[in-house]
Amino acid sequence: MSRKLLIIEDNEQNYYMMRFLLEKKGFKVVGADNGRLGVEMALSEKPDAILLDIQLPEMDGYAVAAELKKHAELDDVPIIAVTSYAMVGDRENIMAAGATGYIEKPINPDTFVDEISRFVQDKKPQSE
Ligand code: MN
Repeated sequence: MSRKLLIIEDNEQNYYMMRFLLEKKGFKVVGADNGRLGVEMALSEKPDAILLDIQLPEMDGYAVAAELKKHAELDDVPIIAVTSYAMVGDRENIMAAGATGYIEKPINPDTFVDEISRFVQDKKPQSE
């Protein structure tokens, strides 16, 4: 069964690149270009994982992650923040807001899909 990913990203170039790389490897991709729509689509589309930009119109990535965490039906859905390499503080803040992990921008086409696949496969968290 093909995995469905939701990409919440307002930069068209980043969105199309991620979508292209993921579809080439058989993922189904749906997209939202603002935070509020991203939350709605997370609930309606029931994706296997969510890729989340931080700087977004309507609701930023921190607000989106915090909102998604309020919905128990999304507990098993990893939230992968896509953060700028330079913005170290972003990573800590987005993890605190509820992200499962992060990958760095600019996207590396050679490793991107493998990184995402790892999060999707590990989506059932082990109890600690
Ligand atoms: Mn953005």
